[in-house]
Amino acid sequence: CNILAIESSCDETSASVISDGKILNNIVATQSVHEKYGGVVPELASRAHQQHLIPVVHEAMQGSGLALEALSAVAFTRGPGLMGALLVGVSFSKALAYALDLPLIDVNHMEAHVLAHFIEEPRPEFPFICLTVSGGHTQLVLVRDYLDMEVVGETTDDAVGEAFDKIAKLLGLPYPGGPFLDARASKGNPKAFTFPVSDMKGLSFSFSGIKTAVLYFLKGHLKENPNFIQENMEDICASVQYTLIKTLIQKLKKAAKQFHIHNIAIAGGVSANSGLRWTLQKEAAKQGWQVFIPKMEYCTDNAAMVAMAAHYKYQKGLFCGLDISPLAKMKIGKNG
Ligand code: ATP
Ligand code: MG
Ligand code: FE
Repeated sequence: CNILAIESSCDETSASVISDGKILNNIVATQSVHEKYGGVVPELASRAHQQHLIPVVHEAMQGSGLALEALSAVAFTRGPGLMGALLVGVSFSKALAYALDLPLIDVNHMEAHVLAHFIEEPRPEFPFICLTVSGGHTQLVLVRDYLDMEVVGETTDDAVGEAFDKIAKLLGLPYPGGPFLDARASKGNPKAFTFPVSDMKGLSFSFSGIKTAVLYFLKGHLKENPNFIQENMEDICASVQYTLIKTLIQKLKKAAKQFHIHNIAIAGGVSANSGLRWTLQKEAAKQGWQVFIPKMEYCTDNAAMVAMAAHYKYQKGLFCGLDISPLAKMKIGKNG
């Protein structure tokens, strides 16, 4: 079976074709219009999706070597995400499915991030825990099967990617700041400065406290030394990154223990972070974990992961109707 999948939940317009569970291609158009605003502007995102979607789908279909008539289904991200952005992908998918008389498959973006692990070898064995860390989410997901997952812990305020980006902005780094902060951090001393590690109950996270702590820390130092940031950039970045990762790993360890899990996976844009990757490998050796980290292109938003999720839903006959609408907030495991 051949499925065309579309992703448009945030600021990446993407299309991918999957054939019998094998990803044929993954075309991603990243929107650069948001850079000068230092954050995603929803209205601009919707417009950019409208501009990019048809060329991106065209490229994906051409690259697959398949004609539209060879498709068995059309899949799309239903949510969570920006309503206007999702609408573009959902409406296009509905129209295409209607025109070609094909079944439609709705996909939860956060489930898709987890299922990105099944695009290539080595694939994790069930059950596993996936730490999904992105610009909008920070979740610990207990994955029992392809379509059987449960959020066992999540952030009560900001996502960790948001914390990376907001702190990077305070430091005057470009947007999105995560990768820039990461690059500076690798040259600094992680113990140079101490920031508070939020200690939330159970498996919950909180990342708004550290952002405020860094803001006051910088304000205090800048009063004495206007060049404080420039002179200490690498050490500040290393210390912030160390604190953020420490929080993630602490909760991951707690979850692994609580559910007796040894297979650990990470997903989402922040899994690109070199400090997180390194710390996870080190912790895995200590804890006897087997660790799974997807290829970079499958960590950030992409349609290949949506296609993978659609493949499993197709096998179970899980289709949706043409009356489906996007959901800005959509929970894992509770579709609707
Ligand atoms: P969601 O999937 O929750 O809807 P999103 O689409 O914005 O959110 P992704 O595209 O998966 O999320 O990830 C983007 C985030 O990843 C940004 O916050 C970005 O700063 C962060 N990020 C990317 N690379 C790194 C890195 N090397 N270190 C830290 N953060 C990073
Ligand atoms: Mg993004
Ligand atoms: Fe995402």
